[in-house]
Amino acid sequence: MNDHTACVICTSDLWDDELGRHICHRCQQRIDRNLQSIAGPRGLYARLALRTTPGKGGDGPAVSGSRTAGMPPNEHVLNLVVNGGIVSQLEDWVKDWASHGLAQTPTGGRLQHRVDQAVKTLRLNLPQAALRHPALKDFNHEIHKIIRACQRIIDNEKPPIQLYAQCPCGGGIPFTLNTDGETCTNCDTAYSHGDILRLNLAERRAAA
Ligand SMILES: [Zn+2]
Ligand SMILES: [Zn+2]
Repeated sequence: MNDHTACVICTSDLWDDELGRHICHRCQQRIDRNLQSIAGPRGLYARLALRTTPGKGGDGPAVSGSRTAGMPPNEHVLNLVVNGGIVSQLEDWVKDWASHGLAQTPTGGRLQHRVDQAVKTLRLNLPQAALRHPALKDFNHEIHKIIRACQRIIDNEKPPIQLYAQCPCGGGIPFTLNTDGETCTNCDTAYSHGDILRLNLAERRAAA
């Protein structure tokens, strides 16, 4: 029990049936929804992880054979997805909550599994944490930051820009920067990822 009369997150007065809690029911529900949105096969974490899978554009620079072609566009995503990223942030909270008897300590496994397990135990224990965990404001803040970081990346997702390369035969070859290679439909010449980038760009009109 505690002597709060206001929610430590949104500072609104606690209702009579919320007295003794650290946070109001609405804040608890929001945290729960936020946690839920991170986990699972369609969750934010899985959607970010998908971007780092070879074959989804993540191996583009390697195919070109040019290590100086620039930073992989998904390096920021990678930092969130790897060990030390979102999964470790969540597990740090799990360990912290576990020290208050409010969660089960992480058991390891694959990254997605670890994320799902961390979210599961945090959600399961959230109602109890709402009564007695001392750092719910920080917790809420950090979960919110994770959501925002994921959302920003997902919202910025744009379809790859369609470009046209000028084949020496005069044909225009549509391609995108993460192409694995293209074949000119006019002369049947096959171009690797690196080759196609060395061709001149054509006007879209010429390609049509
Ligand atoms: Zn609140
Ligand atoms: Zn051609």
